[in-house]
Amino acid sequence: MKKYLIMLAVFVAWCITLPMATNFAKASLIDSSGENLSGFESSQIEETQDSNQNNSEYDTSSQIPVNSDIDLTDESSDDVSKTESEVTESHTDNPVSHPEVGDTTSKEESELPNQSAGAQLHYVNVYNHKTGKTMKLEFEEYIIGVVYAEIPSSFNYEAIKAQVIAARSYALNNIISGQRERGHEGASLCTSPGHCSGYYTKADMAAKYGDEFAEESYNIIKKAVSATRGIVMTYEGMPANTVFHASSSGFTESCVEVWGNNLPYLVSVTTPDESNFYAFYGKTTMTASEFKAKLSSAGVKLTGSPTTWITNIKKNATGRVDSITIGDKTFTGEEIRSRFGLKSTKFKVSTTETNISFDTEGYGHGVGMSQYGAEIMASNGSSAQQILRHYYTGVKLEHVKDEWFK
Ligand SMILES: [Zn+2]
Repeated sequence: MKKYLIMLAVFVAWCITLPMATNFAKASLIDSSGENLSGFESSQIEETQDSNQNNSEYDTSSQIPVNSDIDLTDESSDDVSKTESEVTESHTDNPVSHPEVGDTTSKEESELPNQSAGAQLHYVNVYNHKTGKTMKLEFEEYIIGVVYAEIPSSFNYEAIKAQVIAARSYALNNIISGQRERGHEGASLCTSPGHCSGYYTKADMAAKYGDEFAEESYNIIKKAVSATRGIVMTYEGMPANTVFHASSSGFTESCVEVWGNNLPYLVSVTTPDESNFYAFYGKTTMTASEFKAKLSSAGVKLTGSPTTWITNIKKNATGRVDSITIGDKTFTGEEIRSRFGLKSTKFKVSTTETNISFDTEGYGHGVGMSQYGAEIMASNGSSAQQILRHYYTGVKLEHVKDEWFK
């Protein structure tokens, strides 16, 4: 029995530390979660799927109507939430190139290709951590479940559409790269927000908030998915790894700062003042001995007064912590975020003789679209395209290609 408990503990520890070790760090509005941006390291998915077969165990019946002539700009009348936050610009002397919020190229607004691609149904295998089984879901149906789990349906409709397209591109990028198949029995994606993306069924939502709310929310998200059916962001002709996060303070973060690899569409841009939103400000406090214990595995030696332990905090151009020296070791801000479970790497540290506190601004890794930033932009009149082009530099909006699912 004891042996099994140890094995279980080791497995749980592996599950928790693996994402950290590989620098997974994504936050959704609901959970903190992870991305691996290490690139296209695996081969394309080999298995082909019978596109007419539904998995009877799961609800894949509500197929979205085929729409081959999509106009993203025609559906902005469903604003539910009307936050009137002002877009504020600060740090304008910042050396990093930051396009202004709303500074989008309107000539590209009608660039969506008029073609029938995307009309065909595609299926994706999604490992369900709750049931331990793999679901075969129609891709667009899967996207509904992801967005359902990611943002409130009370968000402005344009922000929801932006989230739908970001979630779709991100999922397809992962399907093609196959980089997430490890850890969920060969399925392309899983339901863990800490690994792939969260995924809610209507029943999941109903269990939390009741049938009526679940139904109403589902219909809003489904409408946004239908209105943007098959549209993804691409970079150099392939679906982009369009990660997103809950909120940022002033600027989003570049991919290279967080994960070390440079993706030209994931660079730092401005984001509106998101400080009124949920969990924007965070505080993590621990005793000096708890702090010490969390660093013991890194071999940090700490003696004397805790007020002398932390030195040399270097911040990067977006105000996030680039490096921090604790005792005789130097960590990246991202390492500290993972190790102490901080909401963001934009933090200030304060120490007393007994406690260490981290005060954070923003929620998540900071890369790609800020979900609350998107919400503010939408409430200020930006379209889904404008939001996406703001947060993902140089992407194109295209229809999915059938070969991407092979
Ligand atoms: Zn996964």
